[in-house]
Amino acid sequence: MAKFIFVTGGVTSSLGKGIIAASLAKLLQARGLRTTIQKFDPYINVDPGTLNPYEHGECFVTEDGAETDLDLGHYERFLNIFTSQANNVTTGRIYQTVINKEREGAYLGKTVQVIPHITDEIKRRMLLLGKDDKYDVVLTEIGGTVGDIEGLPFIEAVRQLQWELPEEDCLVVHLTLIPFLRAAKELKTKPTQHSVRLLSENGVHPDILVCRTEEPLNNDIKRKIAQFCNVKTEAVIEAADASTIYEVPLMMLREKLDVIALKKMKITDYREPDLTRWKGFLDKLKYPKSKVTIGLIGKYIELQDAYKSILESFIHAGAMNECKVQVVNVHSEFINHENVSEKLDGLDGLLVAPGFGHRGIEGKIVAVKYAREQGLPFFGICLGMQMAVIEFGRNVLGLEDAHSTEMDPHNNNPVINMMEEQKKITKMGGTMRLGSYPCELKEGSLAHEIYGTSEICERHRHRYEFNNDYLEQYENAGMVASGVNPETGLVEIIELPNHPFFIGVQYHPELKSTVENPAPLFVHFISAAKKFNESRVSLKAPVLHSEMI
Ligand code: GLN
Repeated sequence: MAKFIFVTGGVTSSLGKGIIAASLAKLLQARGLRTTIQKFDPYINVDPGTLNPYEHGECFVTEDGAETDLDLGHYERFLNIFTSQANNVTTGRIYQTVINKEREGAYLGKTVQVIPHITDEIKRRMLLLGKDDKYDVVLTEIGGTVGDIEGLPFIEAVRQLQWELPEEDCLVVHLTLIPFLRAAKELKTKPTQHSVRLLSENGVHPDILVCRTEEPLNNDIKRKIAQFCNVKTEAVIEAADASTIYEVPLMMLREKLDVIALKKMKITDYREPDLTRWKGFLDKLKYPKSKVTIGLIGKYIELQDAYKSILESFIHAGAMNECKVQVVNVHSEFINHENVSEKLDGLDGLLVAPGFGHRGIEGKIVAVKYAREQGLPFFGICLGMQMAVIEFGRNVLGLEDAHSTEMDPHNNNPVINMMEEQKKITKMGGTMRLGSYPCELKEGSLAHEIYGTSEICERHRHRYEFNNDYLEQYENAGMVASGVNPETGLVEIIELPNHPFFIGVQYHPELKSTVENPAPLFVHFISAAKKFNESRVSLKAPVLHSEMI
């Protein structure tokens, strides 16, 4: 059986537990240990699929079609592995399982209670990935902050496992904050002491403290934290602010977080960490040779987490091109025919983001038209691809009312239509076309050239599709369906061969982009943007000044 590391958080939320967990996992992986990470979220939604992006950021979709927390995206990007439904568990899912079992009579007349039934189900799932000898170490990030009422059953489950498992098989890492009081010019350890005390009151004692801080922690402070929180001084780890999240594994390496974890778990069979590719990526990221400006058109742009995987994919693709990608957020609700050239002026590429519902749609269509006509590199993802189809239908094919039945159900030219199997669905959660599906690429197309292969698999999350009744009309007018699902004929990719780069994809390539394997479409989109920039700069086009238009 594997060893288990639990990562809890104290003092405040947003300390970057997911990044610390992913960094520790990366270091253990680089030392030759088979490692995975899972996230346990205390909210009652069965999964984040039904959550508005404003609530919880992006919904990350795994290969097996699970709608999960965005931290799983970090795990995959750092570890270059696939996660699955088993890697993300919520309170809702735990209760659903227990209540279903109760209805089946599985508890034989017993009173079903938080302890032991809910905690038993939490523990069963915490240990699940550690079975079958697939992994040496399983990290579990516990969502929320210690002290939250809804997190208590998870902390209690960790307490029980700390007691049940051999001491060296269970490690607790607590992430906390050491605030710097400017007026007193002092780092303050009290919030951390309180947070560790709170954890201890719940019976869990941390082995390692990772301390987020804006100022370096000197040895005196480390010793003080260690003494009052009852851990070894070497187990107090400084986690300073980083210029990029991809720097954090190297910072944790310097702080010896991995060495202390290995020592406490009594793991002796490991090698020097091999981080050659990681460091190569970081070098390119830090010292770019050129710069492009990409407009991200969406309706949730106030909240950057809503487009997390897209933004990270730009970072991977930028490094691959040795190019800094500056992303300018453009709110689709405020673009119209009159202001589009002003709003998109100075951009080297345009990405129209995924989304749902009517809000901001017309602005997206206007932006696509501009990109198509101006030869501006265009990349449409999911809803972004559907907007490109509608725009082409309206402005090239002359189907003035072309639309998607998502926004206009009784339309005469439904160029984007609800998928047949979706029409009978009545429940919302987990019912879209989700997860990995194959796609066949047309020989001679740009997509084929970019992927360098004839069949790919990418991840999906949608209910609507290109209406194949219009396919011939589109292809005759120059929009090519260059990627198609081999079984159903569903159009997965559209492109315009007479344009420098105009690609729309029904799937989400951003979900498979990792540091070590950047998504090919993003890499080529940035390369096209670089070319566009070179031609634009040679024409001395004006430069954008604001981050947010
Ligand atoms: N709303 C569109 C659909 O369901 C697009 C979904 C998306 O962009 N993820 O098909």
